Amino acid sequence: MALKKVKDELGTTLYFTGRQTRRSRLSASPSTVSGTDKTDDAEEKFTFESKQRLSILPRSTENHDILRSKRRRIQVKTENDPKGLIAEAKPKKQRVTQVNFKENLPTQPPPHFWLMYNEIKKVRSRIKAPVDEMGCANVATTVSGLSEGKVYRFQCLISLMLSSQTKDEVNFQVMKILQDYFLSKGYKHGLSLEAILDTDELVLDQLIYKVGFHRRKATYIKQTAKILHEKYNGEIPRTIEEITSFPGVGPKMGFLLLQIAWNINTGIGVDTHMQRMAKIFKWVPPSKNMSPEYVRRCFESMLSDHKEEWSRINPILVGFGQVVCLPQRPRCDVCPLSRTGICPAVDKALLKKADLDKKNGIKIESKSRGDLSNLIKDIEDLR
Ligand code: SF4
Repeated sequence: MALKKVKDELGTTLYFTGRQTRRSRLSASPSTVSGTDKTDDAEEKFTFESKQRLSILPRSTENHDILRSKRRRIQVKTENDPKGLIAEAKPKKQRVTQVNFKENLPTQPPPHFWLMYNEIKKVRSRIKAPVDEMGCANVATTVSGLSEGKVYRFQCLISLMLSSQTKDEVNFQVMKILQDYFLSKGYKHGLSLEAILDTDELVLDQLIYKVGFHRRKATYIKQTAKILHEKYNGEIPRTIEEITSFPGVGPKMGFLLLQIAWNINTGIGVDTHMQRMAKIFKWVPPSKNMSPEYVRRCFESMLSDHKEEWSRINPILVGFGQVVCLPQRPRCDVCPLSRTGICPAVDKALLKKADLDKKNGIKIESKSRGDLSNLIKDIEDLR
């Protein structure tokens, strides 16, 4: 990473490593720096944490960008550097977000993929999952009754932006809060572009506080609303490049939005459930970087002759992952795939325990999401 050269108030030249906001750079005066203060010393070296300064700042909209950087450790070095500290400073490794695996992508799914996927489809027809009513594809219609039009498409975008790192149930609650709040403020359709543009970022932050990373999401939503208003006349664009140029919107959200809002099927939205299943079911070739992005590329390549599945696969697998194949303690005891020999991830010990426990019946855990009752009834009828 290139070192940035900045002169401070006393004329000392400072070099900054690490990513810093302009504001936090400007705040790096010697009075805020802890460490040895030897301005004339050639070996001078300051190290400080921006946290020290940030802790005394009042919470306000202007300080959001500073607060976001409070966890970063920032290292400052002065101009003269006989020990060669600056010259030896190694560039930080860039986080890989886009990897070109094109040449290694599978062109066909493994033989057990269709066996499992078709079986999972049958399971999905017998269970109700949170994604069915409260997922991003349905939440706008559920809270506002809209199923088309500009406002509907904007609500889909907002539900997707709120959904990352957040359960569908919580996302639904927050969308309902936003809808009720904006209706009470006199906006005809409730949550809409005009309503977001008129709302202060801090108010928005408070309204969405239940979702993960709400502060950052409030900033992103405000910025995106401004871009939509100024550049797109308030309409959602129709290409993945334009959608992913919005702050906080990645390929998963982008492809899902195109499918939901415009019925455009140009990619697969891969979430953590899909990523996990693709890995444990051995549907995609193992890779050091088993990211959702890698899984998406594999799925799109494997299913290039089955594009009709591109929009279906997300809700099918997500619902299955929410209710049956859970990330912790999957319900192999009720899963029809468990006794077919086609699931590479089946918990055999759990099956054995369930067989021993047969006379006590199948348990439904109090914390379970969705509705498994039809699936359990099918199994008990077979016994
Ligand atoms: S791991 Fe268990 S719950 Fe998940 S698909 Fe396999 S058998 Fe079903």
